[in-house]
Amino acid sequence: WKHAPRSLAALAQASRAHGDRLFLVHKDERVTFEASYRAVATLAAALSARGIVKGDRVAIAMRNRPQWPIALMAIASLGAIAVPLNAWWTGGELAFALADTGARLLIADARRHERLLDHYAKLPALEAVLVSGWREPLGGDAELLEALIGSPNDWACLPETAFPEAEVAPDDPVTIFYTSGTTGGPKGAVGTHRNLMSNILSSAFVSARTLLRRGAPLPERLPAQTVLLPIPLFHVTACSAFLMIALATGGTIVLMRRWDPAAAMALIERERIEAIGGVPAIAWQLLEHPDRPAHDLSSLVRIAYGGAPAAPELARRIHSEFGAMPSNGWGMTETMATVASNAAEDYLARPTSCGPPVATADLKILCPETGEPLPHGQVGELWARGPMVVRGYWNRPQETAASFVDGWVRTGDLARLDADGFCHIVDRLKDVVIRGGENIYAAEVEDVLYAHPAVTDCALIGIPHRTLGEQPAAVVHLAPGTQADEAELQAWVGARLAAFKVPVAIRFVEATLPRNPNGKILKQTLREMFAPGS
Ligand code: ATP
Ligand code: MG
Repeated sequence: WKHAPRSLAALAQASRAHGDRLFLVHKDERVTFEASYRAVATLAAALSARGIVKGDRVAIAMRNRPQWPIALMAIASLGAIAVPLNAWWTGGELAFALADTGARLLIADARRHERLLDHYAKLPALEAVLVSGWREPLGGDAELLEALIGSPNDWACLPETAFPEAEVAPDDPVTIFYTSGTTGGPKGAVGTHRNLMSNILSSAFVSARTLLRRGAPLPERLPAQTVLLPIPLFHVTACSAFLMIALATGGTIVLMRRWDPAAAMALIERERIEAIGGVPAIAWQLLEHPDRPAHDLSSLVRIAYGGAPAAPELARRIHSEFGAMPSNGWGMTETMATVASNAAEDYLARPTSCGPPVATADLKILCPETGEPLPHGQVGELWARGPMVVRGYWNRPQETAASFVDGWVRTGDLARLDADGFCHIVDRLKDVVIRGGENIYAAEVEDVLYAHPAVTDCALIGIPHRTLGEQPAAVVHLAPGTQADEAELQAWVGARLAAFKVPVAIRFVEATLPRNPNGKILKQTLREMFAPGS
């Protein structure tokens, strides 16, 4: 490259240099970098012909499929702002985000289009809808995406189209990703090109750290890995920590539309997958799948996850049973993915930590009540700063002012930094159980429960109490074929932690605990098991 790309527009254009290397795999669709480049240029021209200009919001509502990254790059190359919508949302939720961002155009798959049919009339800003994969006559004024760019296996044959020449600066906004809505309604975090691409650099630093730790030489170029991506592209991790890195390195992304451990093992074998990007629950389901011995998973060298707390023994089990290196990344939508990362030997040595900050980030711990900095080792609210931190929420000046201060973002997580600067996430501020003034960190009790041989999934929550305010209670899922009752688990916790931390009630559930699609336990649903309507 003559100049290092400093925007996704430039990166998308420069990625053509990877030529015939495989970029995207999905079912029987295989897309090279050249084919992707042609599809992006063709779609960008079509968007431009429909009046899309710099700063316009263009929403994407699709499950993982090759059209998703193409849409993102086409939007970015015009200097417009992509709004990735959560494909699990209902029609009403999708319509909320379309209205919230004033999107002028929507690129949707058939299912999302169907969900929105009753809502389009209430979205005056929305001028056009491009639908992918629709077989019947389209409702509303929608156009078929394939009529404009064809199907993924045809993209290599698309005629050469001029790539847009939009003026795009690194600090221009490029995405509005919504937070997961774990603690309240989802908020749109406005990410810039610099935010989105900063993971390329930080992941290179993390790899370098591992190699230097081993005394190994640094490679001349970043390795191009074949990555299985079962997590949705509409969350920042898939997009900035995996898609951007593949574009920069010439790596291959194997897309899964939905998580399915048996299908994942077949894909790992067929595509010789080297790395998996996911959430802890994905790694667990692979480890515990009865058909695992029937598959050759020896190509795996790295299993990366984040987004939710991981039980400490997960790292060791990945290493011993897959022969792969685990890594745990901490981040949030407001940081466009990874801020701290614990990888390989460092992680095995410290399996309760999500690692030190990446080279470009800073972390600090402040007292949640006073905002004063806390000394090393003390638990307080985690704040983060760096080129990945977005500047604020779309259309929410009050929430922006409350969470973004002088380049730092308030994370809402409680954490401590150890003497070596490794970060230990203790809990979400909102999940701390306060029993008559005593703080109980859910994660601490959960770790003790996880250490019991029969427990494979658990969560600690607060249930209301008239005089104490709250009391701790637990929901537990036992490994098939094992046994443990409430009294035994209470004694197990009581032998290891102070009496006030012992759950006063334990409920057992047949299935693993309810999680949202990115692996976060839905604690509000669990609270309702104990106190309906609370
Ligand atoms: P909302 O902000 O709308 O309530 P959310 O915080 O769940 O939703 P995300 O931005 O997807 O939305 O998630 C960020 C949060 O995920 C972090 O604040 C943290 O609580 C949790 N998290 C992320 N990575 C890790 C990790 N490696 N270990 C533990 N928790 C993590
Ligand atoms: Mg959050």
